[in-house]
Amino acid sequence: MTKLIPYGRQDINEADIQAVIDVLKSDFLTQGPAVPAFEVAVRDFVGAKHAIATSNATSALHLACLALGVGPGDIVWTSPITFVASANCAVYCGAKVDFVDVDLDSFNMSEQALRCKLEHARKARLLPKVLIPVHMGGQSCNMAAFYDLSKEYGFSIIEDASHAIGGRYQNQQVGSCQFSSITVFSFHPVKIITTGEGGMAITNDLGLAKKMQLLRSHGITREQSEMVSIPDGPWFYEQIDLGFNYRMTDIQAALGLSQMSRLHDFVIKRNSIAHRYEKLLKDVPVFLPKIAKDTYSAYHLYVIQLNLELISSSHKNVFNELRNAGIGVNLHYIPVYLQPYYQNLGFSKGYCPNAEKYYSRAISLPMFSSLTDEEQDWVVTQLIKAIQK
Ligand SMILES: *Cc1c(COP(=O)(O)O)cnc(C)c1O
Repeated sequence: MTKLIPYGRQDINEADIQAVIDVLKSDFLTQGPAVPAFEVAVRDFVGAKHAIATSNATSALHLACLALGVGPGDIVWTSPITFVASANCAVYCGAKVDFVDVDLDSFNMSEQALRCKLEHARKARLLPKVLIPVHMGGQSCNMAAFYDLSKEYGFSIIEDASHAIGGRYQNQQVGSCQFSSITVFSFHPVKIITTGEGGMAITNDLGLAKKMQLLRSHGITREQSEMVSIPDGPWFYEQIDLGFNYRMTDIQAALGLSQMSRLHDFVIKRNSIAHRYEKLLKDVPVFLPKIAKDTYSAYHLYVIQLNLELISSSHKNVFNELRNAGIGVNLHYIPVYLQPYYQNLGFSKGYCPNAEKYYSRAISLPMFSSLTDEEQDWVVTQLIKAIQK
């Protein structure tokens, strides 16, 4: 096998291509009917009231923070095992970021670490305004527990579900916002469904939805009820807040809508790949991802952790061997606070021991809907070979 097997990739069929072509031949490339159609499809799928499509998940996270009033003087907590965007969104708003350590079985924010940190934060008067748990690899965090804590300590929750559309928690779709104010999805090509670049914020709160819609498009309104003055004429609009251009195009939304019809199949395929890995790796000295009883993972990632005590090779060597064999393994993620930008804000090594332990031994194996059995067998054979070196 000479072709590189990536860790993740998009799955585009003829219907997806035709949907994009149709928009290109239509009157609207942006601000047309495809965006609301895509929003309705996702909103109805997850069982929530409002959906705001955005240019990417990073902009959706930024809008979510702004809608919840995050600003200078506020503190936002997230997980260290995530993409940097989960933390950056709070910094954009002028807030401080802090990190809650993860659980080594799920790689999600640890409920126990959260409880402990909240108790200390209450005494120090440093409680967060917003918590951003991340559904790492596609498995939902224990949201009911986080929700109870949010009531006890008075913070809001934004779910970073960039990995998790199509996943379920307590028999509800991730994104139902049963236990959060806002949920954010990403449609980057490595994620479960794609729009090229794209994201979406989901909420059941009309006020939050309106605020995010306003800020998505420059803070401009054309609704007379929201205006300060009487319209000069039919051309009139008012900028009533400082917003951005965080809009999704109709080209992207049409692709997203077409991909939505395939979401169910994608997630089933990802779960069957995961089960196959589980079988093939059961006697290999690696820790496999553990799925909690009341969750159904969308399996954006399949992360194994090397059992380094039983392996003579090092994490880096196993990783290199796999890359040399044409397998595009990856590592999700470097603990965010170890990035130079965050170290400059005062964080340093040792801050979240589980996150660092995870980082010292984790490898993301290829996981995408078009991965063949033959490719998967090759990945496993090469992994075993690399571990035995
Ligand atoms: C991909 C990702 C993002 C950012 O998504 P974009 O759509 O690329 O902006 C945010 N958080 C997590 C956990 C992600 O994996």
